[in-house]
Amino acid sequence: MLPIQEVFPLLQKPCKVFITTHHKPDGDAIGSMLGLSHYLSLKGHTPTAISPSEIPDFLKWMPGCNNVINYEAQPEVAAHALKSADVIFCLDFNDFDRTKHLEQMLTDAAQPKVMIDHHLFPKPVWDYGMSMPEKSSTCEMVYDFIGLCGDNEIIDKNIATCLYVGVMTDTGSFKFPATTASVHFMIGNLMDKGINHTSIHEEVYDAWSESRMRFLGYVLIERMQVFRKYNAALITLSRKEMNLFNVQNGDTEGLVNYPLSIAGIKFATLITERGDEVKMSFRSKGMFDVSNFARLYFNGGGHFNASGGRSKASFEETIAYFKKVLSDNHPK
Ligand code: 5GP
Ligand code: MN
Repeated sequence: MLPIQEVFPLLQKPCKVFITTHHKPDGDAIGSMLGLSHYLSLKGHTPTAISPSEIPDFLKWMPGCNNVINYEAQPEVAAHALKSADVIFCLDFNDFDRTKHLEQMLTDAAQPKVMIDHHLFPKPVWDYGMSMPEKSSTCEMVYDFIGLCGDNEIIDKNIATCLYVGVMTDTGSFKFPATTASVHFMIGNLMDKGINHTSIHEEVYDAWSESRMRFLGYVLIERMQVFRKYNAALITLSRKEMNLFNVQNGDTEGLVNYPLSIAGIKFATLITERGDEVKMSFRSKGMFDVSNFARLYFNGGGHFNASGGRSKASFEETIAYFKKVLSDNHPK
């Protein structure tokens, strides 16, 4: 993969840019996609932002969200945008399979492919890009990209708002270890662009439905198991109980973090029964590498302290397998 600066000559003339991110996009995925999209528009390009699946409700207020094409709703529009693009930008993922339905299209595409991402162990399938696992977020990297282009000055309130969302959500509101001094300097610059950080936090974190809040209560009382001797905790959610509580897209967001607020718990897992597979989310504090754990046992990956994976076995079998694995591999 060539350094991202090598793509600058291609962007000298107005381009059609296809921008995409991972399936089930989070704040960093949508924030980086929209932030880059606003920036490229300001530079005279024609970006099209494609999400492989629906944008969760807590992000739908973001500037430019209405223009994002959801592949699941409009696959032909997305396919046409890809065909007519001059260049492809992939944000916040490092393996085409993280886009689910777009995997084949991206693999087959002949246009130059650019990645901007901060996950460990990228696949060598991009022509140009930045892969920096030490970065707090892909939004921080889009900010760096704009800086490399010499365009810090033209960052406006829309770009700043989108980038702020991704940095905020991927750093747990600026508390994770990757929140370096330069992240705080960047946030200072974004605030100078006129963003309203209080309302951004409220839009993202304080817009729960009443039923989501009650569901959280149920989960913590009924569905959280604590394994003191392993410094670990597990939350399991079956499809049946999610239907019972009418759980919406985005309602399970952040659940996996709660057990980490228990003193001594350094590893938290959420197992959810999805349509065609069982989805796992892993989070840790300190030196327990959940990216490795996800890769070794659950066909997944991610970051050192936040990762995910999946299993084709049944929900019950997956839980049993997880418990077996946990007894051998857990934080000390
Ligand atoms: P989440 O638990 O929020 O779904 O994912 C946490 C982190 O793990 C994200 O950075 C995400 O990119 C990564 N991740 C989640 N699921 C998978 C997966 O199935 N494969 C890989 N390689 N990474 C995943
Ligand atoms: Mn990210």
